Amino acid sequence: MEIKLTKRVEGIAESATLAISAKAKKMMAEGRDVVNFGVGEPDFNTPDYIVEAAIKAMRDGKTKYTPASGIPELKKAVVEDRFRATGIEYSPEQVVVGTGAKQPLYNAVACLAEEGDEVIVPSPYWVTYPELVKYCGAKCVFAVTKPENGYKMTAEELENAITPKTRLLILNSPNNPTGAVYSESELSALVKVLEKHKNVFVIADEIYRNLVYGEHKHVSIASFSEEMKSRTIIIDGMSKSYSMTGWRLGWAIAPEKIAKAMGRAQSHVTSNANSIAQYASLAALTNVEKSDAFISDMRKTFAKRRLAAIEKLEEGGAKFIMPEGAFYVFIDVSSAFGKTSEGGKIIENSTDFATALLEERGVAVVTGSAFGADDYVRISYAISEEALKKGIEILCDFLRRAK
Ligand code: PLP
Repeated sequence: MEIKLTKRVEGIAESATLAISAKAKKMMAEGRDVVNFGVGEPDFNTPDYIVEAAIKAMRDGKTKYTPASGIPELKKAVVEDRFRATGIEYSPEQVVVGTGAKQPLYNAVACLAEEGDEVIVPSPYWVTYPELVKYCGAKCVFAVTKPENGYKMTAEELENAITPKTRLLILNSPNNPTGAVYSESELSALVKVLEKHKNVFVIADEIYRNLVYGEHKHVSIASFSEEMKSRTIIIDGMSKSYSMTGWRLGWAIAPEKIAKAMGRAQSHVTSNANSIAQYASLAALTNVEKSDAFISDMRKTFAKRRLAAIEKLEEGGAKFIMPEGAFYVFIDVSSAFGKTSEGGKIIENSTDFATALLEERGVAVVTGSAFGADDYVRISYAISEEALKKGIEILCDFLRRAK
């Protein structure tokens, strides 16, 4: 019997980041020594006070359904946290708590874009955006960013991408995979364009907002004016800031009409996010001092590894995008294209490169093609400094030896 899948799911690709991690883990299970640069999650334990709050929640019987869009206390904590971080005031009714940041992101796209609509996605982009847009039946319009602009979309690139069909812009700062962080003046230029196109909404994915290094600062596009605030859906969550990827807890902060629609949609799909994770997140967001200390320590560790990675890559002669935030480095491996690896594999693209590097030298990276930039591979520095240095040495050596 032929199984006929819907058009909606047929076009969806498997998440490349998860696929490479799975392959690396399988090799490790077989006893191979692997440096796994594929990971997209902080390598820290969730802090104890958050874990304790989860245990307490279970003991206190907070194990039942909650309101579909989240418990009121958590929504209040989310808006207070937002106010501390950005000075922007929101009401708890504007918050929709979901399963990770991914679910609110999907809900936001689903509420605003459908067949016939266009969604602008600056490229390189996080793997999931185009797939979500496709899933909602809308069309992705990629705005290809340039090295001379730090791989950030300019006003001109945005203007050129907008058509009467544009409904949404998905802006991700700090960016996965490039680590680019939009400055106030770079955002201000985009805002000027958006002010001319009133029907375009922005999804601002700020999941890495706490992981910004050096002189760079996170600025939210919603902070420019009341109007921008009323046209922006913020995506944020616990995964990266609190090392809570497995807890699956994130949220959107949106204009009330959109938040209500997202809540209604979610109530029929998953209902509430895990109740225990909600109470644990409440403890994280309300224990401000402890959480600030945890995030600051984690940021310091990442900042140190970022410098170590930059130094090693420069030493090894690799070309890469200077990361300003998140915990990734995007490395240009196109110098190996058209060549053969030491193990005899012909390298034509980033997937060939990543496959050969993993199989021959035990280093797992994510192919740039998954992010819309086939000249690159992504490494994550959410691994120990020792493994990071070793892996980069091997990668640079592999790159040099391709003949
Ligand atoms: N947005 C970006 C840019 C990400 O890199 C990720 C995770 O890798 C997410 C959203 C999703 O976060 P979560 O795990 O909370 O769903």
